[in-house]
Amino acid sequence: MKLSDHLFAYPWESMAENNCNSYLVDGKVPMLIDPGHHHLFPQLKAGMLEDGFKPSDIKLVVTTHPHPDHFEGVQNFLDLETRIAMHAEAESFMEEQGAMLFRMMGLRPPPYRVDFHLVEGELEVGDHRFQVIYTPGHAPGSICLYWPEAKALVTGDVIFSQSLGRTDLPGGRGALLKASIDRLTELDVELLLPGHGPVLRGKAAVKENFYLVRSTFFRFI
Ligand SMILES: [Zn+2]
Repeated sequence: MKLSDHLFAYPWESMAENNCNSYLVDGKVPMLIDPGHHHLFPQLKAGMLEDGFKPSDIKLVVTTHPHPDHFEGVQNFLDLETRIAMHAEAESFMEEQGAMLFRMMGLRPPPYRVDFHLVEGELEVGDHRFQVIYTPGHAPGSICLYWPEAKALVTGDVIFSQSLGRTDLPGGRGALLKASIDRLTELDVELLLPGHGPVLRGKAAVKENFYLVRSTFFRFI
């Protein structure tokens, strides 16, 4: 589904099963953000095909954090000429507690590969420039991706419409999540692209959501 110039969204709308929203940025280096659960990948693939993208068109897969519902699907890109990127702490997590988390959720730890690490700062993807923002608290190595040109912010599981990421999974910490959300609040955002739930459009709606989430949840964390 096309959201705006070069930006496509694949929102997960089924209530029967959990999966994440995926986002695709088209350009010289087409990028997919968060390929979701492996067993639900056919649905994402079907959506992408409708928009004219085959998995082999994707040259970069970015994962916002190493939870199964965002990360497991990277295995669909291992045999392609697709680079896979995540934060160094996300990779360390997968080497240590990550496997346990997957088993806890009744899943096998997935095969994956990390071609390069995402670090806080600028990320050049073909003809687009993004800012990687390190946002721990929900998961180790969690990052958000800000695209100044589109004033779009991909938030993974840090903040959603009217809610925020859980902090009870391994490596989660409320104080860190709060600090991460505080940093995001400073950005000029017209399109909030969360890992679950609806996309928020318009500067006022995004600002109001930051205000609502901080005033509702910050006294609890
Ligand atoms: Zn998560």
